[in-house]
Amino acid sequence: MDCIFCKIAEGTIPSKQLYENEYCLAFHDINPQTPVHILVIPKLHIGSADEVTEKNSVYLQKIFEAIPQIAKQAGLTGGYRVITNCGEDGCQSVKHLHFHILGGKKLPENMG
Ligand code: AMP
Repeated sequence: MDCIFCKIAEGTIPSKQLYENEYCLAFHDINPQTPVHILVIPKLHIGSADEVTEKNSVYLQKIFEAIPQIAKQAGLTGGYRVITNCGEDGCQSVKHLHFHILGGKKLPENMG
């Protein structure tokens, strides 16, 4: 499958990796929107939040268990925002589920 995040998970495309376990990988976004902008992806190809099922939701569990460690590693002591864009209206550009961890400054209240 021609999926850039699957290739990053396999290591065939390089990334600035921050964290990895059996289920997920975290790396710095190539085009950061905030001083700290990290992406966390499942190692399994899940297209988006809209494709989460009982069968693959363990990846979500593992991602959310990892997020506090990733945030700590990134020095996000003041807090952060976790978002996932889903589908056309959500402006999802990479069709492999990913969570943005945004921080390193006070973020705007408005979410869109
Ligand atoms: P989204 O618009 O929610 O699908 O987010 C996709 C994100 O992936 C964007 O913030 C991109 O900057 C980021 N991105 C795309 N390709 C790469 C890459 N090779 N390495 C790191 N981040 C990437």
